[in-house]
Amino acid sequence: MIPGPVEFDPEVMRALGAKTASHVAPEFISVFGRALKRLREVCLAPSAQPFVVAGSGTLAMELAVANLVEPGERALVVNTGYFSDRMATLLERHGAEVAQARCEPGEAPEVAAVERMLADGRFKVMTVTHVDTSTGVLAPVEALVRAANRHGVLSVVDGVCATAGETFHQDAWGADVYLTASQKAIGVPPGLALLTVSPRAMAAWRARRTPVRSLYADFSEWLPIMEAYEAGRAAYFATPPVNLVCALDVSLGQILREGMEARFARHRRMAQAFRAGWRALGLRTLPVSESVTAHTLSALYFPEGVDTTVLGRVREQGVVLAGGLHPQLKTRYFRVGHMNVVSPGDVLATVGAVERALAAAGHRAEPGVGVAAAQAELVAAK
Ligand SMILES: *Cc1c(COP(=O)(O)O)cnc(C)c1O
Repeated sequence: MIPGPVEFDPEVMRALGAKTASHVAPEFISVFGRALKRLREVCLAPSAQPFVVAGSGTLAMELAVANLVEPGERALVVNTGYFSDRMATLLERHGAEVAQARCEPGEAPEVAAVERMLADGRFKVMTVTHVDTSTGVLAPVEALVRAANRHGVLSVVDGVCATAGETFHQDAWGADVYLTASQKAIGVPPGLALLTVSPRAMAAWRARRTPVRSLYADFSEWLPIMEAYEAGRAAYFATPPVNLVCALDVSLGQILREGMEARFARHRRMAQAFRAGWRALGLRTLPVSESVTAHTLSALYFPEGVDTTVLGRVREQGVVLAGGLHPQLKTRYFRVGHMNVVSPGDVLATVGAVERALAAAGHRAEPGVGVAAAQAELVAAK
């Protein structure tokens, strides 16, 4: 139950373990082409250009930055934690002049404050982390993206801990880049960087005056490949991770069979059940209010008198959780991922394991209150 890699469906794992086809074999061409079409559907982005490239989520971030900014251009980072810091570092590395809208850990910057910065910043790009995995903060992405649009600023949304878990309508909201990695709510083992890029962002890339400073990250190399596979032809720039692409196709098919709205709603229901459990156990979330609390993970302060060693006790109870990540608070909190195949059984098993571990660590709560509260929420939600 960590915020990635998550648990994967057996059918996805079978695709990963199957015989590796040639990357130019007709059966692989059709699988890759279908995966690209499905990625567009999962991001609710019928007009976008999808990219599937071997690498982790950080490469997806770098692809967005390397192609959209040129040295000396201005970028605004809406900073909600660790991964927003990384985005700022990437932007600077690619020569951008970076300004940041900041806030305390557990908060998200006010949309009005960001809009004031957009109004007089001459920015080309605004980046926002949909769910910051270090804090469990859900940013007000729709409002931020719409604000960027009002000021003619391209929006890049890091969805690595959100895509296919948190509500997101790329085309309807007008987001320019949605990026993610395979190992979180997309439900495929680590190794794929995934992006969907709007026609406006593709036009901004085409209008560049300087070449992209990384060959492997250059859309010029990847666009012909994505277009070829989608059109049913093979093309070569760098060998695609054949088995991961096959596994991606299986997982995206499962996601679309569940339906995007149903899937977003299931993540919300499971998150609400978890929150009820945490509240009953007296655990405080790192996000400061419900409206900025993610549905794909929980970030929780250790209660009084309990420290990181309790995570070892939870592991002894059969559930693996993650420690803190935000540099300012690292040892004061822990994280529970609830993405992809998360079910009511997972909620009850996890809250139960945390409850037993806390009791063993001397935290006082009546046995069963956490599980009962989570169960009550699950029953109420049907
Ligand atoms: C996990 C994560 C990343 C980094 O992905 P890697 O696959 O570890 O490179 C970036 N952004 C967010 C929001 C994440 O959760």
